[in-house]
Amino acid sequence: MERIMTNRLDRAYSMYHAELENAALRVLRSGWYIMGRELEKFEKDFAAYCGASYCSGTGNGLDALYLSCRALGIGEGDEVIVQGNTFIASVMGISMTGATPVFVEPDEYYQIDADRIEEKISDKTKAVMVVHLYGQTACMDRITAICEKHGLKLIEDCAQSHGAGYKGKMSGTFGNAGCFSFYPSKNLGAFGDAGAVITNDKETDRRVRMLRNYGSEKRYYNEEVGINSRLDELQAALLDIRLSHIRTLTMERKAKAERYLKEIDNPKIILPKTREGAEHVYHQFVIRCESRDELAAYLSERDIDTIIHYPVPPHLSKAYAYLGIKKGSLPITEKYADTVLSIPMYIGITEEEQERVIEALNAYV
Ligand SMILES: *Cc1c(COP(=O)(O)O)cnc(C)c1O
Repeated sequence: MERIMTNRLDRAYSMYHAELENAALRVLRSGWYIMGRELEKFEKDFAAYCGASYCSGTGNGLDALYLSCRALGIGEGDEVIVQGNTFIASVMGISMTGATPVFVEPDEYYQIDADRIEEKISDKTKAVMVVHLYGQTACMDRITAICEKHGLKLIEDCAQSHGAGYKGKMSGTFGNAGCFSFYPSKNLGAFGDAGAVITNDKETDRRVRMLRNYGSEKRYYNEEVGINSRLDELQAALLDIRLSHIRTLTMERKAKAERYLKEIDNPKIILPKTREGAEHVYHQFVIRCESRDELAAYLSERDIDTIIHYPVPPHLSKAYAYLGIKKGSLPITEKYADTVLSIPMYIGITEEEQERVIEALNAYV
């Protein structure tokens, strides 16, 4: 029996391969590879898809987060609130500016717990960074109200939530900046590194564009110390093809998730839930189990791979030991790190493969 992997990017590629290959050849033959028409077109199309006024491409998702923080004036001496259970890039986007991340526990949907944000606000707090983790939006009406009340900027990490919405509005459009990653395995994936920042604010967009290109708007005239983080023409052209199919791709993920939700039935396994008003695009299908490591080993023996998103919460990573946050200080975050398990979920997973995953999970005792 063929091993079921946690992701199969070859399957997604084969879906639109002719269109993708044509676009790649067009760019290769054009003689123009950085900051050209392909990027302009993708930026325009992605902004329109999200319902945002502006989009600027970046080299990757981490840079999108970092550049947004910089564009919004976040830096040394500032604090930014972020959920404890996230991919470490969210936190690095904050700390790379010199600002200090302040962690908040997640709710039962794995998103930042809106009830626990205000207790973490200090006179140094400059912004809240929301992560729409696993593909589901956080409780955005409550969070936007908190940010407004306290005069805080709102940054959304949308690296896992392309096309996810909350009460009819797209992720990335609730706050000052929406940050996307198009890493190959994301719901909208490139064929290398890529990212973007969307915003409705002209000045924020101007600053991101300036900072992504050595802090210059006019070539060789540099206003600020920026970085080099550009989305190249080849990736932009390939992303634009996939963007034109994203509704189909999202529907497929949802249909696969629906099947898991309907057919996985085991009292030892906690299935993901969707918040009222939130739309889930299932970047990951994350279950929870008290005996998580044993379950993962059991599945592996049956040729089913799984992955943990994420085994070490940022506050307990060596990278952030300098913050001095002790084990036990974020019990819900730490409990999730010990019990979550992502099962195979990707474009092109077959019915038979899903069947095998479901049967194995239901037979686990
Ligand atoms: C993937 C991811 C990022 C980083 O994106 P890169 O393009 O890999 O830099 C940031 N935040 C979250 C939540 C992610 O999943």
